[in-house]
Amino acid sequence: MKPVRPDSVILPGSIIGVLGSGQLGRMFAIAARRMGYRVHTYSPDRDSPTGQIADVEIDAPYEDLDRVRQFAAAVDVVTFEFENVPAATAAAAAEHALVRPAGNVLHVTQHRLREKSWLRDNGFPVTRFEPIRGEEDIARVAPQFGPAILKTAGFGYDGKGQYRVNSAAETKSAWEAMGRQEAVLEAIVDFEAELSVVAVRDPRGVCVFYEPSCNHHVGGILDVCYAPQPFGADVAKAAREIARGILEALDVTGVMCVEFFLTRNRQLLVNELAPRPHNSGHLTIDACVTSQFEQQLRSVCGLPLGSAEMFRPAAMANLLGDLWAGGEPDWAAACSVPEVKLHLYGKLAPRAGRKMGHITATAHTAAEAGQVVRAARARLTR
Ligand code: AMP
Repeated sequence: MKPVRPDSVILPGSIIGVLGSGQLGRMFAIAARRMGYRVHTYSPDRDSPTGQIADVEIDAPYEDLDRVRQFAAAVDVVTFEFENVPAATAAAAAEHALVRPAGNVLHVTQHRLREKSWLRDNGFPVTRFEPIRGEEDIARVAPQFGPAILKTAGFGYDGKGQYRVNSAAETKSAWEAMGRQEAVLEAIVDFEAELSVVAVRDPRGVCVFYEPSCNHHVGGILDVCYAPQPFGADVAKAAREIARGILEALDVTGVMCVEFFLTRNRQLLVNELAPRPHNSGHLTIDACVTSQFEQQLRSVCGLPLGSAEMFRPAAMANLLGDLWAGGEPDWAAACSVPEVKLHLYGKLAPRAGRKMGHITATAHTAAEAGQVVRAARARLTR
């Protein structure tokens, strides 16, 4: 381990190592390079979204711990853009460099059951859930649930590995379909809306919060989000306070997004934590003084955090690979809406459901920005 004191500042000119190489790393690398840092990225992929921007792209398995150690020894701090890197990979990196957020944050957030249990045990509001590890668990707990969702305990994101179930028999078939792996059975929330807060915390414990956003999902994947959310200042304040409590309890250094369900009686339930910039925070690039990616850089480097203030209400629409079904989308048509900003991630294969890019618009109100991004996206394939 290089002699870096945890309270020292990692200055421009230093090298940031990023575990993972997707679009989150790409937007981080753009922010880091703009501020004069160098970026090394590590993942099993080549010509990746992050690698196209980084100074160095290492294409090796996460399990190659010697290669991970070499990668970490060559950088000043390691962060990640993908929380499902194996714990052993983060531990090997930590032998040679600061890793921010630290391994405990990864440990809690990369496993749904561990995350939900940690939240509940630490007094944060969550949906009712039960672990499923065998047929006995299903027989015992499924009859206590009405409509529910069975989710894999590990490695789930964007609604992958999830089954809606209505009875013990359906729960059993779903559990068999997911290969009888450890799972969580969770009550379905009849929510009013889904909200999220991107929060950032520096090594001294200073926290900054973005305007909570309101998120619409289609098929378990974020489709459109907009901010500020329309449910008032009390909901925003409550969401920020829960987020603060979580970042403090986990001693996070870095960015973390807390996703919520807002129930019909205006109660917030934490759905998920992401220990990194989040899709719902992409609009901060075009609508805020400091983007979530620059905040990630500032926090992991120990620089003072920037302002999270929004210039204008904004909305973001994801561009999934499905948009390519009829050929290359009509980029000029979307750009002909002057408020629209186009972000593409440099991915070569536009598979259905794959996040290829997004568009953001700012407007006088969040609702108007939402209409603009939806209309601009529709123009892509007209
Ligand atoms: P997740 O991967 O757990 O964030 O789930 C993806 C999406 O599925 C969420 O954003 C919700 O739209 C939906 N979903 C997940 N869990 C629940 C639940 N308990 N009740 C209602 N909808 C849910």
